[in-house]
Amino acid sequence: MSSIAVGEVEVVALTDVEGPFFRLDQLFPGVLLEEWKPYFARYPWAFADESTIRGRIGGYLVKTRDRNILVDTGIGPAAFGTPGRLLADLEDNGFQPADIDVVFLTHLHGDHLGWSVTEEGEPTFPRARYITQAVEREDSGSREGQALAPLKSLGAVDLLYGEEPISEEVIAIPTPGHSPGHTSLLVSSGGESVIIIGDVVVHPAQVTEPLWNIHFDEDKEQADGIIIAAGHVPGAGFGRVIREGGRRYWQALGENDARELRAGEEEARGSRKE
Ligand SMILES: [Zn+2]
Repeated sequence: MSSIAVGEVEVVALTDVEGPFFRLDQLFPGVLLEEWKPYFARYPWAFADESTIRGRIGGYLVKTRDRNILVDTGIGPAAFGTPGRLLADLEDNGFQPADIDVVFLTHLHGDHLGWSVTEEGEPTFPRARYITQAVEREDSGSREGQALAPLKSLGAVDLLYGEEPISEEVIAIPTPGHSPGHTSLLVSSGGESVIIIGDVVVHPAQVTEPLWNIHFDEDKEQADGIIIAAGHVPGAGFGRVIREGGRRYWQALGENDARELRAGEEEARGSRKE
């Protein structure tokens, strides 16, 4: 499932890079290996092995009736030695950079703004308004600031001050914590909703373990049941928060069921090699 319908809006998952990323103790220092154990069995598709996270750097295309909104632009041409494939993924879904009306940046970390500007310093998405939270821009360090500087001088950046609508169906909602101006997008149409949460959750285990590194504590009750789109979760990153035995868990929608089988196959292949 690389896209879902939300009333009249379509939300398409895009992937820049996916694979084994960080060691567990790099991304979540202070969490013991022992504490991860229950999650290996529950989310096998979210681990490369017992010490490494399988993650994704991705974004979403929100296709409303009158606007194509790209949420985050991946890690970009530098990626990890080879360029990410976000633009190719966009094209595979039938979109060219010139089709994008709005580039919404959940926050200004390097793995979310990579494809915003070309190597020549031109906007990659020539018609787009680039939108981010004002407080995020103020806070961003020199590297992130530089990445957006050409856009700013072209007058292509719009800054938000708190909660603001992006289109009729899409509202930007500040969700600070991961960074001061981190902002999620609530997409609502025809009585259905999806929330695109940026880095509020980078690994599904955090749904159960809210104190692990990144807060998922605010409005938690409201998060139950709603479809969530998380750009660092493997596959399409669509899921729901469910309750089981008094605890909350991530329930992947669609693709990760298939991925689970593939992860098993990889494992089988790996063990044959050994
Ligand atoms: Zn990130």
